[in-house]
Amino acid sequence: MTKQQQLDKIRQSIIDDKICPELALAATNLVFGDGSVDAEIVFIGEAPGKNEDEQGLPFVGAAGKFLNEMLEMIGLTREDVYITNIVKYRPPGNRDPFPDEKAAFLPYLSAQLSIIKPLLIVTLGRHSLNCFLPTLQIGNCHGQPKKYKGEVYLPLFHPAAALYNGGLRQTLIDDFAKIPATIKLIKQENSIESKTKG
Ligand code: URA
Repeated sequence: MTKQQQLDKIRQSIIDDKICPELALAATNLVFGDGSVDAEIVFIGEAPGKNEDEQGLPFVGAAGKFLNEMLEMIGLTREDVYITNIVKYRPPGNRDPFPDEKAAFLPYLSAQLSIIKPLLIVTLGRHSLNCFLPTLQIGNCHGQPKKYKGEVYLPLFHPAAALYNGGLRQTLIDDFAKIPATIKLIKQENSIESKTKG
């Protein structure tokens, strides 16, 4: 099976397993993910908003436009990366996802990651960060790569939170600019590791 076929299977299993049926009923689309299945970088947001629900794609509203701009600043496009959310259906009225909703989707998100096998997982906002690193606070660790259980995470503020807050916006742009150097470092470390393993 190709990576795309494996991802399609996970998408279908969210429907077959009837994950969060209330959210599913209220949603227009399941928003599974978008981008390259071979991406070195995966971005993980919180949950779809109105535009995402309508189009079935993650980060296509105002926060998505900002995300696209920041990708461009580091010489990338959406086609170079993979973008998804923890929760795959829009919570009504854009409320925060509930803990049980995040927990219900986590195995499917983990399965997505184990197929794509990115070098770097960029968490957008505190919900996404705390899914993987529950003890960390975004205010203290943003822009600092964290290694945990064999993965490398880069916690960033959520683009929607930073959009209309000048200070936070610049902080997010500065943190985002660390992505290329972080990837380079991971590749160097991986090549040293593979050499020492022989
Ligand atoms: N905010 C998110 O967390 N995800 C989206 O897809 C859009 C906005």
